[in-house]
Amino acid sequence: MVADIKFVETKNLKAKPDVSKIGFGTHFTDYMFVMDYNTADGWHDARIVPYENISVSPANTTLHYGQAIFDGLKAYKHGDKPVIFRASTHMQRLNISAKILDIPEVPFDIALAGLKKLIAIEKDWIPTGKGQSLYIRPFIFADDPYLGVRVSQTYKFLIILSPVAAYYAHGFSPVKIMVESEYVRAVRGGLGAAKTPANYAASLHAGLIAHDKGYDQVLWLDGVERKYIEEVGSMNILFKIKGEIVSPSPKLQTSILDGITRRTVNEIAKDWGYPVVERKISIDEIIQAHNDGTLEEVFGSGTAAVISPVGVLEYKGKEYVINGGKTGDFAQKMYDYIEGIHMGTIEDKFGYVEAAE
Ligand SMILES: *Cc1c(COP(=O)(O)O)cnc(C)c1O
Repeated sequence: MVADIKFVETKNLKAKPDVSKIGFGTHFTDYMFVMDYNTADGWHDARIVPYENISVSPANTTLHYGQAIFDGLKAYKHGDKPVIFRASTHMQRLNISAKILDIPEVPFDIALAGLKKLIAIEKDWIPTGKGQSLYIRPFIFADDPYLGVRVSQTYKFLIILSPVAAYYAHGFSPVKIMVESEYVRAVRGGLGAAKTPANYAASLHAGLIAHDKGYDQVLWLDGVERKYIEEVGSMNILFKIKGEIVSPSPKLQTSILDGITRRTVNEIAKDWGYPVVERKISIDEIIQAHNDGTLEEVFGSGTAAVISPVGVLEYKGKEYVINGGKTGDFAQKMYDYIEGIHMGTIEDKFGYVEAAE
């Protein structure tokens, strides 16, 4: 059952920015979706209201103890029709994160209906330039005004929207990645499988150090043995080795986020006839494959960049140049294909695109 979603209109509409100049996450649309939870009423009062600051108690439990989750997905326009890429899959993952953090799951139908209604109302905000999109950020946070440590009894679920520029305005530029052998982002039994702020807090310091050394991002190894490859903080990582598409398995390594872009890449690669393998991959195996000349490509996958080719891996003070530091053919072809589905220029035979109205 889909509950009524109230709509509070504003006449104060913002001027739309020149999306090619605004980068990522700087501008927000006119409206947001909000829903509340308390133990007596469950999730209730789904509404779309003007985008505005929210007020919380200084004792708000999220501020102190971090019980919060989020997700990230994108909307596009096919002609005049607003569409959302894998909306249902993302809303399901929000509830997977919710379970891990002991947050009450949001009713899937209402969350999806609220998202679609918000996108339909805000469709004029969806930029249509190549590579541009309307980024969607659903999030849930604990809202008890209480300094004791416990699972919160009240929550807020919001969805906000931000028009974003093309990630690769000037074509791909492969990133330089540092394999992290000192710091740890998440460990087996921890929060790695959830999209939760804590994982990002845990990654900031190592990210700064990597930046200072001239690297774009950190590649995390497992926190127990410091041996198996996990992911790149806000992206999953994939390798092309001897023609196979290989990536760490979130089923075997529960400290990894089960990225939807990685799933998309693997589904398409299978359809193209590539062997697709999900397994534990040690960093030593990757270095060996590089030295043998069988490591053909390395790339990250995530909603923000879609595909991010890796040109250099640094491990224990040594740099390994991948594919001559250039974007590999597979990564390029995959990016073009997924972008084509986003833009509506390539047939969506997997049913990834969901109409918002
Ligand atoms: C969001 C995220 C990813 C990428 O997931 P997608 O569903 O592909 O966007 C990978 N790792 C982490 C830690 C993330 O938060």
